[in-house]
Amino acid sequence: MAANRIHNFNAGPAALPLSVLEEIQESFLNFKGSGMSITEISHRSKWFDDVINDAVTRTKRLLNLGKNFHVLFIQGGASLQFCMIPMNLLPDDRSADYVDTGTWSSKAIKEAQIQGKSVKVVASSADKNYTYIPKDIQFCDDAAYVHITSNNTIKGTQWAKFPVTNGIPLFADMSSDIMSRPFDPAPFGLIYAGAQKNIGPAGVCMVIIRDDMLRRIPENLPTMLNYTTYVSENSLYNTPPCFAIYTVQLVLKWLEDTIGGLEKMEALNQEKAGLLYEFLDSSEFYRTTAEPESRSLMNITFRLPDEDLEKRFVAKALKNELGGLKGHSSVGGCRASIYNATTLAAVKALIDFMMNFESKFD
Ligand SMILES: *Cc1c(COP(=O)(O)O)cnc(C)c1O
Repeated sequence: MAANRIHNFNAGPAALPLSVLEEIQESFLNFKGSGMSITEISHRSKWFDDVINDAVTRTKRLLNLGKNFHVLFIQGGASLQFCMIPMNLLPDDRSADYVDTGTWSSKAIKEAQIQGKSVKVVASSADKNYTYIPKDIQFCDDAAYVHITSNNTIKGTQWAKFPVTNGIPLFADMSSDIMSRPFDPAPFGLIYAGAQKNIGPAGVCMVIIRDDMLRRIPENLPTMLNYTTYVSENSLYNTPPCFAIYTVQLVLKWLEDTIGGLEKMEALNQEKAGLLYEFLDSSEFYRTTAEPESRSLMNITFRLPDEDLEKRFVAKALKNELGGLKGHSSVGGCRASIYNATTLAAVKALIDFMMNFESKFD
């Protein structure tokens, strides 16, 4: 590990690949011979054009997106997408299906309802405190889209397989698992992801939109809230978050050139999560909270015998250079977020610490 760095299990903003941080550091004062920092150059320069175009190209290649998909970079986080999606893509005379699998899904539903849009919650796991992903869902044939949250960052659940929607465009909030595994993009009308979990720093949201969705957009939307603005200007209608997009570009390059693509990334993620779940399952001290077949490979949520022990666990872990293990304030407990950039070595160090901590309280 580089000097003074700890193993970072934060949920977001979260760990970035060390080599990406080093590349940023190295080129920070003089970007590509410009004599200026990436934070100082014009977003209208050739230098920045290369950055954003490369980020788009790599996204398309990594996710196997056909020509009919647009890759956009929008500010306002995933949370702004909760509102932009129904505003742009849910016509007033139609209804959309939403699956409620926890906090972020619930917020997406709320933002559609605020606008007076018609929303049907066709499935929910609220009955069991969002500890599972619903199965065998009946969608409405005439739904404008089906909205899901592919990975539930707070509850530690993840769709192992995406639902079959029989031609209804699937929309997914992939904030906490985008680029963690390959999938077939064909059923998707829209995918979005706040960068700060798995692909970059805070400040930008990646939005992938299928061409045919653009026809639904009403004409009277404010410019900055209209997807067409971002599509027709390559996300450069106004000043974009240049530094955040640059970091995303480097992370995508790392995924392709160092990791070797999403199949490889998925195998690594399975290995990391597999080790941690195997350990948790073998312990009588730690207890996982998500139902086994709905478990997330990205956010691993668990409890200790009582809250006092959980506090001591989190504090002692930090003393041992393992940071970010406190669960989300809305649910308590503990959570290890092991996104793409979290190394196998970090997961092994965590398991060692957990064994040690447990042995003192047996
Ligand atoms: C973190 C998170 C969000 C919120 O993202 P912001 O970029 O902070 O708006 C939304 N959805 C999911 C799944 C998340 O993990």
